Amino acid sequence: MSLPEPPIAVLAELTHRCPLQCPYCSNPLELERAAGELDTEAWLRALEEIAELGALQIHFSGGEPTVRKDLETLVAAAAQAGLYGNLITSAVLLTEARVEALAEAGLDHVQISFQDTEAGNADRVGGYAGGHEKKLAAARWVRATGLPLTLNMVVHRQNLQHLPQMFELAIELDAHRIEIAHVQYYGWAYENRAALLPTRAQLEDSIAVIEAAGKTYPGLAIDYVVPDYYARRPKACMGGWGQRFFNITPTGRVLPCHAAETITGLSFDSLRDKSLREIWETSEAFQKFRGVDWMPEPCRSCERREVDWGGCRCQAFAITGDAAQTDPACELSPHHGVMAELAAEETAEAPPEFRYRRYANAPETAKLAQPPAAGREADADQPAS
Ligand code: SF4
Ligand code: SF4
Repeated sequence: MSLPEPPIAVLAELTHRCPLQCPYCSNPLELERAAGELDTEAWLRALEEIAELGALQIHFSGGEPTVRKDLETLVAAAAQAGLYGNLITSAVLLTEARVEALAEAGLDHVQISFQDTEAGNADRVGGYAGGHEKKLAAARWVRATGLPLTLNMVVHRQNLQHLPQMFELAIELDAHRIEIAHVQYYGWAYENRAALLPTRAQLEDSIAVIEAAGKTYPGLAIDYVVPDYYARRPKACMGGWGQRFFNITPTGRVLPCHAAETITGLSFDSLRDKSLREIWETSEAFQKFRGVDWMPEPCRSCERREVDWGGCRCQAFAITGDAAQTDPACELSPHHGVMAELAAEETAEAPPEFRYRRYANAPETAKLAQPPAAGREADADQPAS
């Protein structure tokens, strides 16, 4: 077995606590509890190990990473270890003083997620009254410190009508980059797919808007990927399973991608038990879909197999029940038609109500995996909105 190249980036999910309740949240249905979170010492050790492994970037994420009082300490340690530090935040808990403290600690970049440009709808989607105004203020504080800013716009059926205004907002806030990120349908988003999946007409309109924005705002970096349910080829999810990236959950489990726990039957090692190097190089979950040996046909003999690495394992599992299938987003997959049918069916009806991301809203199967007392305690972690 040859050793893998070092990872490029690591996503540190410091917590699953978050004051928002986005119905597309990428956190798992079984949210981890505050009581089980890694402490500061454990994260400091992890940051050292990440740098020793040769990774270049660390993304501090959650949940909402700013609920952690030790965030400045972790940011400073990452900077000292030579890691490029990016904060991925909903920004609703930030204050001007906190933004300045994070900049002083050595943070390199801030990415703020917005739910829409229209405050009423943004607050409805995020399930947090007043959130949009707070994000605007935080974005201005970020730019006042001189830190580069990315706006992360998660787009779907219920906000795509404001796509032109999203670009205007990025310019108004002096952002360097905007990510137009279509919802990825696993976990909470899978539960809410019928409420979120855009129509084909919306998709076509949005492509025209994005192309025009590229010409109108040449100084703004624009990231956009066609949503999987309308794609002809999959994206190279995470740059290939276990090849460029890993994710650490709040309690210390190490995953090849942030949604990997949606695949049942895989088990993940914890940094409490093993070094990150050992996990990266030898853990079973990382080996399982790394490279091309695991691939079925049509991927196995496809010329794109080392371009898109067969697409997303979590999506293959969500649609076919087998993570070792070709991603159905690929039109060569025997399951490709299912995605188009689902999209046509679900967008033909008015969108249903959101199932918000709350501990209490997890499906029964996910709740059964939690001890009942911990469930009550965890609900209290969620600040009132
Ligand atoms: S997607 Fe929404 S609910 Fe999930 S962590 Fe981000 S802000 Fe919180
Ligand atoms: S068959 Fe597999 S490798 Fe080829 S394009 Fe489709 S997903 Fe990619």
